[in-house]
Amino acid sequence: MKKITIAIDGYSSTGKSTVAKQIADYLGYVYVDTGAMYRAVALYAMQHNIISKTHFDKEKLIESLKSIDLKFKKEAAWNKAHIFLNGKNVENEIRNLEVSEFVSPIATIHEVRVKLVAQQQEMGLEKAVAMDGRDIGTVVFPKAELKIFMNASAEKRAERRYKELLERGDKVAYDDVLKNIQERDYMDTNREDSPLRKAVDAIEIDNSNMNLEDQFHMVLQLAKDRIAGRV
Ligand code: C5P
Repeated sequence: MKKITIAIDGYSSTGKSTVAKQIADYLGYVYVDTGAMYRAVALYAMQHNIISKTHFDKEKLIESLKSIDLKFKKEAAWNKAHIFLNGKNVENEIRNLEVSEFVSPIATIHEVRVKLVAQQQEMGLEKAVAMDGRDIGTVVFPKAELKIFMNASAEKRAERRYKELLERGDKVAYDDVLKNIQERDYMDTNREDSPLRKAVDAIEIDNSNMNLEDQFHMVLQLAKDRIAGRV
């Protein structure tokens, strides 16, 4: 069967990773969460006094990149691959609101993007990959057979993310989650290097009023059409 590359981009907390993972599992493809990679770099920067609420040492970040090793590993008990930063599993740590507050400034740095994009392209060399992020259809895999661009209202997205954080046991306020989503949207769409854009050939899905099952079937059909060469 023909193998394709599936690129899923969109605004923060639109459920990109949920649908990318569902599709990858269904098709037996590799799922790659590129946001986890930017988050892990942000965590490293927070731990090494590179970024805080009052400073951001961009030179030190660029210099540190050679000391940052990112790997995805999967164990049978986990439902998805976890990200390891210099050998340590940081899958849980990178999801907190503090990392979310620092990740978008980190993702504006050209050298960070060059390093992570190269690693992402390598992971997709064999195709049969569903990758989600902000620049997958525009920069990482501009020739992907299927490109999806996901959107939903900021309030709906904040509601979903707020619930997720509460379920993890994080004590957060809804207003702070909404503010973070709006700030990241702004930074991600306005940065100079690889801003978040819908690729011209991407199919836009607004899932504000869509349930997970309908969304999954919609994306699966789009993938099947491309695998079968109907599109
Ligand atoms: O997908 P997630 O919300 O975890 O991504 C966290 C942040 O990482 C985004 O807000 C964005 O700043 C950055 N990112 C990016 N390019 C990607 C994936 C994520 O700039 N391909």
